[in-house]
Amino acid sequence: MAVTFTAPVRHAGRRGITVDLAGTGVIVCGGATGGCATALFMARAGARVTLVERVAQPRAIGAGIAIAENGLAVLEALGLGLPQGQPVSAGRITDAAGRTLLAPRGHAPRVVLVRRSTLQGVLHDAIAADDRIDLKFGTELLDATPAGAVTLRQDGEESTHRADLVVGADGLHSRVRQCGDFGAQVRSSGIRYVRMLVTANVATGTEAWTPAGLFGAFAVDGGTYAFASCGTPESSAALDARDLDAFRRHWAANYPPAGRILGAVSAFDDLIVNEVFSVDCARWFDAALVLVGDAAHAMAPNLGQGANSALVDAAVLFDELRRAPSLPAGLTAYQQRRRPAVQRVAQASAQMGRLAEMTNPMGRLLRDRVLLQVAGMLASPKSVGMLLQEPTAVLRGIAQ
Ligand SMILES: Cc1cc2nc3c(=O)[nH]c(=O)nc-3n(C[C@H](O)[C@H](O)[C@H](O)COP(=O)(O)OP(=O)(O)OC[C@H]3O[C@@H](n4cnc5c(N)ncnc54)[C@H](O)[C@@H]3O)c2cc1C
Repeated sequence: MAVTFTAPVRHAGRRGITVDLAGTGVIVCGGATGGCATALFMARAGARVTLVERVAQPRAIGAGIAIAENGLAVLEALGLGLPQGQPVSAGRITDAAGRTLLAPRGHAPRVVLVRRSTLQGVLHDAIAADDRIDLKFGTELLDATPAGAVTLRQDGEESTHRADLVVGADGLHSRVRQCGDFGAQVRSSGIRYVRMLVTANVATGTEAWTPAGLFGAFAVDGGTYAFASCGTPESSAALDARDLDAFRRHWAANYPPAGRILGAVSAFDDLIVNEVFSVDCARWFDAALVLVGDAAHAMAPNLGQGANSALVDAAVLFDELRRAPSLPAGLTAYQQRRRPAVQRVAQASAQMGRLAEMTNPMGRLLRDRVLLQVAGMLASPKSVGMLLQEPTAVLRGIAQ
């Protein structure tokens, strides 16, 4: 099946000459957070959207996710809300004995914790209800050219398509990014994180920085979402050997609440293990190809801004495209507005990760007694603004 889209036309609107997204053909690759939000915004602007996701039934994937004020504002702009979100006291960090190491002074951003499947479900329901979006689950993007020619594969059959805009929302190992000239640098931090969902209510409600690294456990609907960094030789060896008991024993010895939470995990395969990578792209678009979310800027998870940033990307891409005199001008404005803002958060997140994952006793002593005191004093409305990247009132009103 070949779909041919017409080129976007320009028209004189209230703001002068603008790109008319009505009739613009957009193929979005990736049906997770960034891709769904982008598809919804583009469809609301009148574009003809095809959303391509290689997983046939993606809803059940993942553990928990913290959605902050900026992500919530983008969802609100789309007319969506999150049911069953548990509020989290963002930014409070304890040591293994439960003593507060860092607590935000003044305004802390609102954060709710949900199951990833809950967020995904809200987005997929909105996509399914929007008849301007052609949803293709179980379809893989094989190739895309900067001129907008796209090759897809579904049920073993390949088909070619044309689009005015191809959005790469296809995550860390983005195929769209590989198809264009984005000047991408992909780096591993060398650290693995483990995430888990357990049905027992065993949340500590905090993130703890312990001799074995970072461990957090928060309540989600119907249980507990927990995560751990795995930087010690013992936890790393346990992961390599797929030895849940050894992993549990190591954590129990260093942070007893982690031992209890890991006691509620029944099999090693219930742990989700991810190596932490960062992606920095010199350019976020190449002709008709544009990147959003992890494809453009995967970052360390320590400030909980990866998915939130993907939501902000989607909103800003929409905002800039509808105001620009041409597609290239809109894409340039999107890159100029998003890249520096995301880079600041990614750098802060990586620094936070390095502090959290310290296991050397002298280093931790210095960090806990000196560095975190200074960090607490430096926490300011400016740093909250940096974290959220865009004023939330702007994000909330973006679709009006
Ligand atoms: C341990 C950990 C904890 C985290 N916690 C948080 C948190 O609390 N808050 C937060 O905001 N962020 C968090 N993040 C980051 C967050 O998970 C990511 O930033 C976010 O999922 C990125 O969304 P995305 O839509 O850009 O990409 P992804 O979620 O990676 O989705 C990409 C989609 O594209 C699909 N795809 C890939 N290739 C193709 C192809 N060729 N054809 C078709 N489909 C394709 C995939 O199947 C997938 O569905 C965390 C990350 C980690 C590792």
